[in-house]
Amino acid sequence: MVIQDQNLEEIKNRIDIVELISNYVDLKPAGKNYRGLCPFHEEKTPSFIVSPEKGIFHCFGCGAGGGIFNFVMKIENLSFQDAVVHLSHKAGIELPTSKRNIQNKEYRQKAKIIQLNQIVQKYYYDSLIHSEDPLAKTSRQYLFQKRGIKLSTAEQFGLGYSPADGKAIIEYLYQHGFDGNDFIQAGIGNVIRKGELYDRFRGRITFALHDPNGEITGFAGRTLLENENPKYINSSDSPVFSKGNNLYGLFATKNEIRKTKTVILVEGYMDFLSLFENKITNCVASMGTALTVNQATLIRRFAEEVIICYDSDNAGRVATFRGVDILTKKGLSVKIAVLPTPYDPDSYLRKKGREEFLEILKQKKPIFDYQLELLLKEYGSNSLESQIHIIRGLLPSINSMTDSIEKSLKIRSLAQYLKVPESLIYNVLKGTQESEKKIKLFKTTQKDAAHGAIKAEKILIKFLLEDLTVRNLICDQVPIEYFSIPEHRRIYQVILNNKNEEFSLSDLINVFSGDELMSSCISAIGSMETEFPKISEELIQSLINTLKKAELKRVRTLLAGELAQQKDYKSKLLIGKRIEEIDKEIQGLKTRS
Ligand SMILES: [Zn+2]
Repeated sequence: MVIQDQNLEEIKNRIDIVELISNYVDLKPAGKNYRGLCPFHEEKTPSFIVSPEKGIFHCFGCGAGGGIFNFVMKIENLSFQDAVVHLSHKAGIELPTSKRNIQNKEYRQKAKIIQLNQIVQKYYYDSLIHSEDPLAKTSRQYLFQKRGIKLSTAEQFGLGYSPADGKAIIEYLYQHGFDGNDFIQAGIGNVIRKGELYDRFRGRITFALHDPNGEITGFAGRTLLENENPKYINSSDSPVFSKGNNLYGLFATKNEIRKTKTVILVEGYMDFLSLFENKITNCVASMGTALTVNQATLIRRFAEEVIICYDSDNAGRVATFRGVDILTKKGLSVKIAVLPTPYDPDSYLRKKGREEFLEILKQKKPIFDYQLELLLKEYGSNSLESQIHIIRGLLPSINSMTDSIEKSLKIRSLAQYLKVPESLIYNVLKGTQESEKKIKLFKTTQKDAAHGAIKAEKILIKFLLEDLTVRNLICDQVPIEYFSIPEHRRIYQVILNNKNEEFSLSDLINVFSGDELMSSCISAIGSMETEFPKISEELIQSLINTLKKAELKRVRTLLAGELAQQKDYKSKLLIGKRIEEIDKEIQGLKTRS
């Protein structure tokens, strides 16, 4: 059985979490929340709360928490799938049960949507070429002059333009035997303003999205207006389309990819089209979003090696690391083609041309080297402290090496490169594992809310989820290593990946649904009461300082350990001096916050 996201959303919308949990727990209102005795552990005073507003429950006694699915999984002892089925019955929503009895109806519906998409595509393409709409002219200029797309390419890949009025298309669809409901079903029609139906892509350049067989399953639309957000939108999920299940361009490049066993992975539609125009045809685009597991599975069907070539900016780097992680887990060999800042593949190709781009591909790097290079750029390698930063930054990729010989060789060459003793790397490795173990023991209960730095981590995450306007302020200043708890780091990474999107607590619960530890951690943060009446820049700064201070202290501990072991007098002096500096830095942060 395939559970669609939209089914989960529907179930969530129809089930009242307070009503659901009241079947098992005697809940009493407490402010905005409800409170009761936890059903998952023995207690005399209630520490179990339910927030109807956020759709979560959390126990401050044992740490259990999450959304409605997590609750049912735990209390009825069900798998995630069975919990969804259980709640769908309660909600009166029919999930596709057996393939056979729905196949015909489902098949017919899918075929109808694909047919509708083809007709919509024809309409968009004609509008791009002929429309007198001022935005249509801008679109033509953008694609054909500024970006140098050939007409044949626009036709092959189904580029288009959706006229700004957003309604004429509906008349066109009627003429072809479709109605408004089909338009909505296909994920293109949007009901807005007093029940009126519009094209969600109105006023945008459109990109047809094909499945690997070349059928159009959906569309993406790019705005040309400077201040319209978001820049790109997609069809909403439909029986044939779900975001993150396909790769842009694959239908046209799959044979080349199969032949070369290598795929070049870029981020955006324009990047892909640029490569294709330059006759580099073993490529696909992950469509602007971070790479998904389903996309990686799809790549695995055609390729053995992936060359990631994302934007050179910070978001591109974050997406690269995430991509490496997912692709390596699928058993793919991953290399990185590094573009100089501020380029993306499209702008680089236009500025420097095909030959120089091929050179960049030739210089592709293994992940370890790529990461080392970035860390060196960020920290330099002159001081022991920056060396420790670099080693710690590389730990995840060292730890992920399963071959112990490969691992010790990497450690040796890193030691030689940084001119540090191998023992230092092993010490850092050991230190990190121990502190992670200690943190694991530190359950997400009320007790740790008293703990300064960890509490500050939680509050910052809470702010990041609740207030879009503070995201840049926090994300620009806080590197991921400031978060000491591995679960917090995972959450922060997801927030960084979705920095510019509407991304709420409930989306976060969706991302980790089925993962008990993560759900508990998220609900703990969501249900946390802070003593601050409102979010201010000052408050955020002081929280960031708290995190920074804790990180400096962790580095100090490592340095002190090294100081005790170091025999060389000169090195001892240097380390001692650095510790003094850190102490001063910590002192400075104290007086400021
Ligand atoms: Zn409990």
